[in-house]
Amino acid sequence: MVPMNQWIKIKAPATVANMVCGFDILGFAVNNPYDEMEMQMVERLPNEASVKIINIDHYNLPTDPEKNVAGAALIALIEEYAERFASTRPAGVPNNVGFDVKINKLIKPGSGVGSSAASSAGAVVGANHLLGKPFSNDDLVRFAMNGEKLASGVKHADNIAPCIFGGVTLVRSIFPLEIIALPSPELHVTIVHPQIEVKTSDARSILKHQVLLKDAIKQWGNIAGLVAGLMKKDYDLIGRSLEDVIIEPVRSILIPGFDALKIACKKAGALGGGISGSGPSIFMLSKGKETALAVEAEMIKLYTGLGLAHHTYVTTINEKGVEVIN
Ligand code: ADP
Repeated sequence: MVPMNQWIKIKAPATVANMVCGFDILGFAVNNPYDEMEMQMVERLPNEASVKIINIDHYNLPTDPEKNVAGAALIALIEEYAERFASTRPAGVPNNVGFDVKINKLIKPGSGVGSSAASSAGAVVGANHLLGKPFSNDDLVRFAMNGEKLASGVKHADNIAPCIFGGVTLVRSIFPLEIIALPSPELHVTIVHPQIEVKTSDARSILKHQVLLKDAIKQWGNIAGLVAGLMKKDYDLIGRSLEDVIIEPVRSILIPGFDALKIACKKAGALGGGISGSGPSIFMLSKGKETALAVEAEMIKLYTGLGLAHHTYVTTINEKGVEVIN
């Protein structure tokens, strides 16, 4: 437990959800970009809001704790803390516990790399640390999903899970929650964020609600192949399994240059990749850093050619998830 009114620092990584064939179930955390946060535990008066949000970036995100995903996640945590730990609360935790949260957002909201998940996951991991770790990682995912519900209208965990657990995660089930942390070989990640807006609601509304059995069978094979490839550290199997026959053909029409980009990146040596989250960012996985840099050069060439402003990252899979730095 950390004494009251003592600030801690938190690093909350960006995440790639909808890992190609693993729509809504497979995601991973990356080492760059990440959000910086600071938190302290405080005692609140009965009529005061339990969470105070202080934004120290230029994004003008809501400071009302019920409208900021970090606040929504923390309110869920505080409510359950009061229910479960009322009688076993350590002396240093006040009866009317609250949190002050400073957010320095370095992951652009709406870019498709888990900006909202970083805030909700960062906030609950920070609060758990301040409280002396009464909650499990699965509890923290449950609380943080309230933030995702606020941001996108749906309680989903495919960004939250890798943000909290680190590495690659499989969300086998949401109700009841079952998250499986998967081992993976060293993988380099190249991400391009074309500066266009893809609304999560649009990306969801164009999806077909029925799939052909032959497509479903192909997708099952690829998901199983990808999980097996990660566990066996078999790069070729990973590459062959990075194929999505259901979601990508529909969603990629929202992202200019998608098909040409994928062909160019694979030609440069990428194992494969696809849309990050609901876009517009696109990610590619590579075996070595040199290939990841060659992939970045292709991304820059393509979007420069299209006259579209863009931002790229070359990074690796983050194995630690949210980190607390005292
Ligand atoms: P991403 O696709 O990058 O994860 P989302 O679309 O999931 O981004 O979330 C962005 C939405 O959540 C925006 O509407 C933003 O205003 C809202 N939001 C509220 N609080 C936060 C926060 N702390 N961090 C990021 N986005 C937030």
